[in-house]
Amino acid sequence: MKKQFYSPPFLSPKSEKSLQELGILPKIIGVYKFDRGPPEVDAVFISHGHLDHSAYLSFIKRELPVYCGETTRTILQALSDVRRPNLEFSVSDIEFKAFRTGKKISVDNLEIDPFHVDHSVPGAYGFIIHTSNGAVVYTGDFRDHGAKPEMTRDFVENAKKAKPTAIVTEATNMTGATVSSEAEVESKLNSIVAGADGIMLAEFASSDVDRLNSFFHIAKKNKRCLLEALRKDKGLTVPAFDDEGMMIFRKSKKRFDKWEKQLIEQYEGENKIFDVFEVSKQQCNVILAVSFYDCDELVPLQPAAGSCYVLSTSEPFNEEMEIDYERLVNWLRHYGLPQYHVHVSGHIMPLRLKKALKEVNAKRIFPVHTESAGLFAGFVRDLKSQVTLVEKCKEYTL
Ligand SMILES: [Zn+2]
Ligand SMILES: [Zn+2]
Repeated sequence: MKKQFYSPPFLSPKSEKSLQELGILPKIIGVYKFDRGPPEVDAVFISHGHLDHSAYLSFIKRELPVYCGETTRTILQALSDVRRPNLEFSVSDIEFKAFRTGKKISVDNLEIDPFHVDHSVPGAYGFIIHTSNGAVVYTGDFRDHGAKPEMTRDFVENAKKAKPTAIVTEATNMTGATVSSEAEVESKLNSIVAGADGIMLAEFASSDVDRLNSFFHIAKKNKRCLLEALRKDKGLTVPAFDDEGMMIFRKSKKRFDKWEKQLIEQYEGENKIFDVFEVSKQQCNVILAVSFYDCDELVPLQPAAGSCYVLSTSEPFNEEMEIDYERLVNWLRHYGLPQYHVHVSGHIMPLRLKKALKEVNAKRIFPVHTESAGLFAGFVRDLKSQVTLVEKCKEYTL
């Protein structure tokens, strides 16, 4: 939505007024700092730490409690340590109330039951909300093909038991669906690294801990070490830097942020930190986590013949990303590096989603988090549940 109007960094929203004017910030009376009236809501619940679910917390009135999982709180606080606070992302002074699976929360006359779900960031939750008019289920972002599908199973079974009046479900993957799993991703990555003669450059989302673990496992299996550039969210460095298979890559830059300096100081004496010249000398022993913005490191690195690049995130999905991707491909072409794409989505696939919705059997289904709500409605039209396509800022009564 924001991308339809803005092109950062040169055209960014200057104040909340712009975001409200364009309907990017939803109109919910009294919940925002700049809104004087009393809030229409008693609390805010965050399902997980991805920014499409948490960024605009910066605008929330600080007297409103914000409920989220322990891990989400860690992620958001770490993010605010590594980024400079800006208009659209700041969690300073927020009154976080952290929950865990199985701990019910009462807000006014509602009872909210958070359930862990499998997603591409740790600490993701779905909610079963008990109201005087029956239960309402919210899936959050979820899948059943990641590293912990049993969590999603548990959520679906409990949602079914609640005999819900409504389920608000994500329906992201209605086009471009695939059949794969995190386990399959790991085995594909393994077959690439096993055959590579030079360095393996790997790009993956910094908060995707499942993927980090997949890379870590194949690094160990192939007697390489995984070199993580200093870009990780603090508190999410799983596996620990203390492990012998894990090294820290010091980027070739002159100024480091505070959290980077702290990490460097902590591990300096332990032979854990490698610069690009040291990496260049032992390319066969290394998987180097990089991003497009690190391409200039390739000049001192000089990748050996037989090196390769693995994109382990979703493919570029907008114009700016495509332009950056073309630039990346130019770099790789210059050094003779083939590109592999090995990834699995953080979102449930259509047939699996339909099966889960059939099992939960809510009276009504509200698809959200999708560009294909109409397609979704057609796909599930034989279920007993009635599908409602939602409109922005419209109220729905149960
Ligand atoms: Zn997400
Ligand atoms: Zn999302």
